[in-house]
Amino acid sequence: MNAPHVAVIGAGVVGANIAHRLAARGARVTIFDAGSPGGGTSGSSISWLSTFPQIANATPAMVAYRRRTHERFRELEAELGGGWMHWTGTLTWANGQTAARLERDYLAMHDLGLPVRRLTADEAAAFEPGVRIPPESTVYLEDGGGWVDAPALITALLRRATDGGARVLTGTPVTSLTQSGRGWRLTTPSGEHEADVVVTAAGIWSSHVAALAGAPVPLDLRPGLIVYSSPLATALRSVLNGPELNIRPTASGGAAIHWRGEDTYTGHGYNAADPNAVFAAAAEVLPELAGGAPERASVGVRPVPPGGPVVGWHPSAPGLFIAVSHGGVGWGPRWGDIAAAAILDGEEDPRWGAFAPDRFFRSPLPAPTTTSQHALGHVPAQM
Ligand SMILES: Cc1cc2nc3c(=O)[nH]c(=O)nc-3n(C[C@H](O)[C@H](O)[C@H](O)COP(=O)(O)OP(=O)(O)OC[C@H]3O[C@@H](n4cnc5c(N)ncnc54)[C@H](O)[C@@H]3O)c2cc1C
Repeated sequence: MNAPHVAVIGAGVVGANIAHRLAARGARVTIFDAGSPGGGTSGSSISWLSTFPQIANATPAMVAYRRRTHERFRELEAELGGGWMHWTGTLTWANGQTAARLERDYLAMHDLGLPVRRLTADEAAAFEPGVRIPPESTVYLEDGGGWVDAPALITALLRRATDGGARVLTGTPVTSLTQSGRGWRLTTPSGEHEADVVVTAAGIWSSHVAALAGAPVPLDLRPGLIVYSSPLATALRSVLNGPELNIRPTASGGAAIHWRGEDTYTGHGYNAADPNAVFAAAAEVLPELAGGAPERASVGVRPVPPGGPVVGWHPSAPGLFIAVSHGGVGWGPRWGDIAAAAILDGEEDPRWGAFAPDRFFRSPLPAPTTTSQHALGHVPAQM
């Protein structure tokens, strides 16, 4: 059978990973983006790759999954060439009430054999000479992970996909999706296109794009502020993970400062965010910033589906594959694997069931005596 023609809507980090994986496996791929690749949330993300303390208390399956995620980045680097992945590790600290919790998480990570070690104040100061960590803090270094230059990763993925025959149509919004024979017709301002399968990888616009096909996708949107400094005299070696700020190096030698105040756990409202105030708070950690001003600031909007990632066939629209999640930089390579296995092999691993869009539409009532293929969630046959 001919290779399927797959239309991927969205050239952010999720769509670029999926397009690359499909093209590498021989699918005919066309990528549509309303703007330019990386111009959505992927271009204003902190793009941090880390496991501590996030997986300290996770199930063994999740621990294995996250380990596999890091391995997948190593493999992707070998495939695409480097330059976009920065294996810097992360320096994490806590003080006050959160210190005891972080220490418990550290011990749990240690028992799991994950690469985190406690540093003395002197060791931390020698490791990051330009950073001032409050003296009463406990400090940990996670050796794995680091940060991803997401726009550079997208460029590398799309270059490889186009080398494999994919087409990238920028400035080309998809404005309608209609079923046509066994596939789809996509309308754009510059013309119509046919595809066997449509992948929506439209980030925060996923609900709108899937709605074009009559397929509901619930999504919360959460803005996040990042403030950028100009290049530092004492460059950062690692990602810094303090109680209120994440700070990572930038490609130009500056710092990207992510104020976590808008996260629900600190209880601040987003409107409290002020780039100058965030910059001043960062100067407590990076004294070199004192008296300076942000070079620029960005507000990215996180796509946050209720209950976690949504990756899989949509039950209301045969041949429509949805891929949207927060953490899309870290998860992206896995979404590429899952999409390629589902679309090209007809494979549905039960472990992915938790991500399936049909979770929103399962009835809590007893199953009806008659039902339609539509209600069951039709999965296209192997192509
Ligand atoms: C402040 C902040 C910090 C974050 N930190 C991290 C982190 O540390 N680690 C991590 O993994 N993730 C992090 N994230 C989340 C991560 O950035 C996102 O999950 C990821 O970038 C989403 O990528 P995407 O490809 O789904 O969406 P996007 O990058 O938004 O791409 C979607 C694309 O779809 C296109 N599009 C939309 N509608 C249409 C249409 N009708 N037709 C054609 N194209 C269309 C858009 O133009 C856009 O380019 C963070 C996000 C923010 C905001």
